[in-house]
Amino acid sequence: MPDQDYIRNLRIPTSDDPLRVLVSACLVGVKCGVDGDDYGEYASVLKLLNYDNVKLIPFCPEDFSFGTPREMCDIHGGDGFDVLAGKARVLTASGADWSAGMIRASEKMLKIAQENAIELAIMMDVSAACGNHVIYDGNRYAENKKYQIGMGVCGAQLSRAGFKIISWREYASLQILYSRIDPDHILDEAAQDFDQHEWYISYFNKKI
Ligand code: SF4
Repeated sequence: MPDQDYIRNLRIPTSDDPLRVLVSACLVGVKCGVDGDDYGEYASVLKLLNYDNVKLIPFCPEDFSFGTPREMCDIHGGDGFDVLAGKARVLTASGADWSAGMIRASEKMLKIAQENAIELAIMMDVSAACGNHVIYDGNRYAENKKYQIGMGVCGAQLSRAGFKIISWREYASLQILYSRIDPDHILDEAAQDFDQHEWYISYFNKKI
């Protein structure tokens, strides 16, 4: 979830000592989506590829454990922390239990984060693996599909180890990040993080 103060206080990176950022691979154009696609263009993250003072470390946890293409999956009975604790399950659309494979993928992602001493992770949201702010509550294909505030399994694994994560939708946080890495960046004051968005406030009945 967004932590603007953390991003505001990130060091100023250089090309010799770039900012180390773990990123959901599909956000930077890797075709690792369930159907072998990259889910489209994520300009808020793709722009980071232009900076030599940022080292992006892409990883797709679901591809690691289940390959591509693969089934869609969601968390049933809780969030990513609950899956790690054995209290909730990751089920595919056809009902296969992917909990163990997803936990293995999250452990691999954590290892990558630790080995690279990442300073930030930017991840896809609303994913049973990479979700880090909002995820589905059960089957996304259900007629009465629901969302919940919470993390996917890999988001939870990284967060539990103390790593900071934002999603590609945290536009205000990303604006702050760009102003840290680029002295010429003009901050877009109108940018909003996901929890400031009209849909989020109304769906989760939050007060402004
Ligand atoms: S959201 Fe995560 S698990 Fe899904 S395709 Fe992107 S990197 Fe892979």
